[in-house]
Amino acid sequence: MSEIICTRCGSTHCKKNGHIHNGKQNHRCKDCGRQFVMDNAQKIIPEWIRSMILQDIVRVSFITLYLPYFFGKSHLAVELYC
Ligand SMILES: [Zn+2]
Repeated sequence: MSEIICTRCGSTHCKKNGHIHNGKQNHRCKDCGRQFVMDNAQKIIPEWIRSMILQDIVRVSFITLYLPYFFGKSHLAVELYC
């Protein structure tokens, strides 16, 4: 069985906390008190992947928005120079 991870704070200090109306196991985080149900279809994105996605968004925004502003060229032309 996979580790139970709090959906709010990411803590692994969670305990079972009864069942919800549809019979799924409810959990409660010992650290932040959040109650949640782990859904197998629910994918939690690790923090390091989130930061990579954020960095990518910043990089793409920089290339497509700011560089053309400074250089007065289209982003395609700027990418060729990078
Ligand atoms: Zn928590």
